[in-house]
Amino acid sequence: MKPIPYGRQHITDEDIQAVIETLQSDFLTQGPKVLEFEKNFAHYVNARYAVAVSNGTAALHLSAMALNLQPEDNVITTPLTFAASANCVRYCGGNVVFCDVDADSYLLDLKKLRQLLETKPKGYYKGVIPVDYAGYPIHGKNLRKIADEYGLWIIEDACHSPGAYFVDGQGEKQLTGSGKFAELTCFSFHPVKHIATGEGGMITTNSKELYERLLLLRTHGITKDPDKLHENHGGWYYEMQELGYNYRLTDFQAALGISQLTRANEGLIRRRNIADNYNKAFENVSGIITPKVENDFYHAYHLYVIRVENRFELYNYLKANHIFAQVHYEPVHLQPYYQRLGNKAGDMPVAENFYKHCLSLPMYPTLTEEEQEYVIGQVMGFVK
Ligand SMILES: *Cc1c(COP(=O)(O)O)cnc(C)c1O
Repeated sequence: MKPIPYGRQHITDEDIQAVIETLQSDFLTQGPKVLEFEKNFAHYVNARYAVAVSNGTAALHLSAMALNLQPEDNVITTPLTFAASANCVRYCGGNVVFCDVDADSYLLDLKKLRQLLETKPKGYYKGVIPVDYAGYPIHGKNLRKIADEYGLWIIEDACHSPGAYFVDGQGEKQLTGSGKFAELTCFSFHPVKHIATGEGGMITTNSKELYERLLLLRTHGITKDPDKLHENHGGWYYEMQELGYNYRLTDFQAALGISQLTRANEGLIRRRNIADNYNKAFENVSGIITPKVENDFYHAYHLYVIRVENRFELYNYLKANHIFAQVHYEPVHLQPYYQRLGNKAGDMPVAENFYKHCLSLPMYPTLTEEEQEYVIGQVMGFVK
């Protein structure tokens, strides 16, 4: 029997054709396809600007740099995420301060965030990096209110949530990454995410200043823009004005991204349909806790995460039956590296308890109805 993973990419003939055409063009590294991908992606999330980069981690790192994160600056994030959400702070020499998650949404707990902020004078914390865990978007408006009170910037880690939105108090849909609430929003195009380019990432913003800074930092801090040069010796002349990186995306990856993006909404609808099927199958089954989503949120379902008493046994049981479920995540503050920086077990009780019980079931657009029925049958067989 074919193994069923927890997530996988969907590559069509059109995707392959788009990549081939770009390979036959004049541009392999950053070229016109990158610009087109940026424009299309900005349109998709309703933002003014988008900057394509080599992966989601690079997106987070460049974002932290663009906001001038300095050594010893204190930045808050959630422990229930992939390590990169915290690591980007460390790349700049900053301190990561973890804030526990809400027991129902698994997102940063805004009450606890407020409590944490009140323990220090204003200015002590520079920024916050919320994560749209599993595809559940943060309520950007509520978080922005707190951030403004305490003078924080926001980098939203939306690697799980392209296409997600919440409905604000005025009944307006607020898409993740629209740039209205977070200064910068980061996305990943790793194959298990909604849109795949192999490796790849994107940053969106409404700030022209941040946009230009990101462009500079993406290419070594080098510019050829005549308006920005200190001197100009001729056509060959460029200046390295800051210490940047090579975080560029290739044009053939961008071509794949453009093609994938045209199916993003279709994929979202299919993911939400798969989530509905799981919800229906598991509602009222004692021993399984399904994800709780508030009415005003359009969840993007990068992951479908259940909680069970015997997670270890269920994981192994499914594996023996060719279903490769996964655990998201071992809380980041308990990684040996972050323990060496002073974090310990017991610091984040909600996230730590969640980790003991959570399991991500197969969730990707090409999961067939038969495969999902098989997965549901195996989970039911185990809990009974
Ligand atoms: C995937 C992911 C990243 C990193 O993205 P890469 O493209 O793999 O570097 C960062 N944060 C979260 C929450 C992710 O899921």
